[in-house]
This record gives sequence, structure tokens and C-alpha cells, in this order.
Amino acid sequence: MQNKFPGKDISLEDLKDKIPLAAKKYPSHKSIVKVKDISFGGNEIPFLTGPNTVESFKLINDVGKMLSSLKLKGMRGGAFKPLTFPYRSKKYFEPGVNGLNWLKQTKKKYNLIVTTEIMELKYLDQLCNSTDIIQIGSRNMQNYPLLTECAKTKMPIMLKRHYGSSLRDWLGAAEYILAEGNKKVILCERGVSVAHTHRSTSRFLLDLQVIPAVKEISHLPIISDPSHATFWAPWVESMTLASIASGCDGILIEVHPDPKNAAVDPLQPLNFKQFKKLLNKSKKIAKCMNRKIV
Ligand code: PEP
Ligand code: MN
Repeated sequence: MQNKFPGKDISLEDLKDKIPLAAKKYPSHKSIVKVKDISFGGNEIPFLTGPNTVESFKLINDVGKMLSSLKLKGMRGGAFKPLTFPYRSKKYFEPGVNGLNWLKQTKKKYNLIVTTEIMELKYLDQLCNSTDIIQIGSRNMQNYPLLTECAKTKMPIMLKRHYGSSLRDWLGAAEYILAEGNKKVILCERGVSVAHTHRSTSRFLLDLQVIPAVKEISHLPIISDPSHATFWAPWVESMTLASIASGCDGILIEVHPDPKNAAVDPLQPLNFKQFKKLLNKSKKIAKCMNRKIV
């Protein structure tokens, strides 16, 4: 008798019955998710760059100015943060709706495309009014009512992989968005939990193999977040270059003008100088791949 218990692997029946919308229909099937004047899944590799947390208007404005001077279009920043522990340092306060307004002002001023994370549905309207891409964080990947309501807005959605989920579970979550008729799904690999690896502070391992695996099974674009995966700025450059070489369709990356004073996760952002160096190297790898960083 065949064992029908669902495994981690995606079976041919799954492609047909469980993820018919996320699965490829033919070998060259690829979806391009266009967000204003950038697109994911085509020739371009957009960078979505910014601080972990929208700490102040000044911080966001400084980042926006830097991105604009480099002719980059994409910015990230969290106004609502899913922090692992409930206690807060003196440096931290949740910017919330103020943070959304700072993002909106900066986005207008420098003509940027913004992604920011949704935590609670009560802020969905305000969030949609300030962002271009709704970010679903790792911890909410399987919050199905949240996925469904976000999908209904028809906004582009970046779906981060939960750090414990298989590709099967991740594409299952993407299917919830697609099933609402929202085709603008961007997957984001951000590192998975594994048995202890290289450093005690390295909580996650960037799953580079999932990039070709997604391309084998799905038509959806996939971007990579080396900042959350490594949790360690000195490793961000190599993992960004490796992600581009692995065929990713975009990069989510943390920068901060003064990383050691970042309110959240101070070990992972690059400073502006490190970021510029990384950008130049990334352009060279992208060229080898016949692609372009935007
Ligand atoms: C983030 O990108 O700010 C974030 C919280 O990431 P993740 O959901 O992957 O932990
Ligand atoms: Mn974080």
C-alpha cells in the first residue's frame, strides 16, 4: 500500500491538487511581479535596502537619500516588529503608525518603492497607504487569515519563509494568496533553523538550494535576505553574492548608518560604506548572470 502521509517532498499529486496555482504549468513558466518601475522575476534584481526598524524620520530620510544617490529604488523598514522577547531596550520603541508616515514621506521624496511588515489586520489600510509591497514576516507565514486578507487588497505581497518550514509548506502558504486571485507573490528566503552550525549567534542557515528548488517547481519569483539569515554583518556580503549567483530575483538587506546603535539586531546591518562596496561587487555577479541590479 502506498504511504499517503504527507512528507516534506512535493509529489506530483501535490502539484495538481494542493498547489495548482503556485506550481509551474510548463518548464519555462515564470511570473514577473511588477511593482511600479521595478520587477521581480525578470531580468532585474531589485535590492530592498534599509534599517531593520523605522527608528526615526531622520534615519529613514538618510537611507532614502543614500539609495537615491546610488540610483536604487527599493527600501525596507519595519514599523511593526515581531521581536522574539517581550522586553524592550531603552533605545527601542515601536514606531507603528508614525513609522508608516515616515516611510510614506521618504518614499515620495526620493521616488522609492517600500516594503514593510504587517503584524495586525487592524493596521492593514494604513499600511497599504504607505507601502508598495506588504511584507509577511517569517513568524506569520502560516497565519492564513492574515494571508487571505492581505491578498484581497491586491497589493504585491512578499512572503517570507518560516525558518522551520519545508518548501511544500511555504508554497502552500503562497497558494492561499494566489487562491484569492492575487498573483503578485514574491517569496523570500531568510534562513532556516538547523542543528547548531558555525557560531552561537548564527541562529539561521541561508538555504541557497531553495532558490533553484523554487525555480524547478514554481513560477514565482524568489528573493534572498542574507541579513536575517546570517545575523552577522561580516557574512552578509558573501551570502548576497552567492544568492545572486544562485539565481535569486532580488535581495532584502539591512543597512544602518551606525549599526552598533541600531535599536534592533545591531549585529546584522551593513553601514553605508560597506553597502556601497557590496553593491559594486553585486553588479559584477549580476552581469555574469545576464541580470541587472536595480
Ligand atoms: C524583517 O525582515 O524585518 C524580519 C523581521 O524578518 P523575519 O520575518 O524573516 O524574521
Ligand atoms: Mn529582524
